[in-house]
Amino acid sequence: MQKIMRIARLALLLMFAAAAAAQETPDWTSPFPPFKIIGNIYYVGSQGLASYLLVTPQGLILINSNLEKSVPMIRESVEKLGFHFKDIKILLISHAHWDHCAGSAAIKELTGAKYMVMDEDVPEIEAGGKGNFQYGDVLTSRYQPVKVDRVLHDGDTVRLGDTVLTAHLTPGHTKGTTTWTTVAKEDGKSYNVVIVGSPNVNA
Ligand SMILES: [Zn+2]
Repeated sequence: MQKIMRIARLALLLMFAAAAAAQETPDWTSPFPPFKIIGNIYYVGSQGLASYLLVTPQGLILINSNLEKSVPMIRESVEKLGFHFKDIKILLISHAHWDHCAGSAAIKELTGAKYMVMDEDVPEIEAGGKGNFQYGDVLTSRYQPVKVDRVLHDGDTVRLGDTVLTAHLTPGHTKGTTTWTTVAKEDGKSYNVVIVGSPNVNA
């Protein structure tokens, strides 16, 4: 009996954890001042959802489009830094969850950027979040389906101007969770940069 109670309690906890993970929190949509991180890499996300901008002479790379309603905020952050939102040529994501990729349809339309996604996350992106092994088909985790322009594989590189990003397949949080690495240059020194796909463990 005690064991059954324990299992029931655990199941309830897991349910709450899943519900919490599927719900928007205020920090996701709270603005945060954009700033330079290092070299040509800038932060253009909100308090709770990270977006990164890489600036090259041939245009901009954006990592993470976040929520649909994040797009005007990202745009404002890009422009505040003195860059042009329309110069985004390549759009990348950390993984195929709506809080990091629901804005991709709008950004593609506004900028004409090429959308590049890790192989294992492509079916979900093109199905608008349907079929996620964590969230299933719940409406809160769905977004506008987007056609992926380039399918990435582990170790592939994305190049624009003098910037090279390497896509590392780090599955777990989603099947195609991608950790990005690059080298930033500042004051004559080179720095290895890692943009983590997701440190979150699914409930
Ligand atoms: Zn996620």
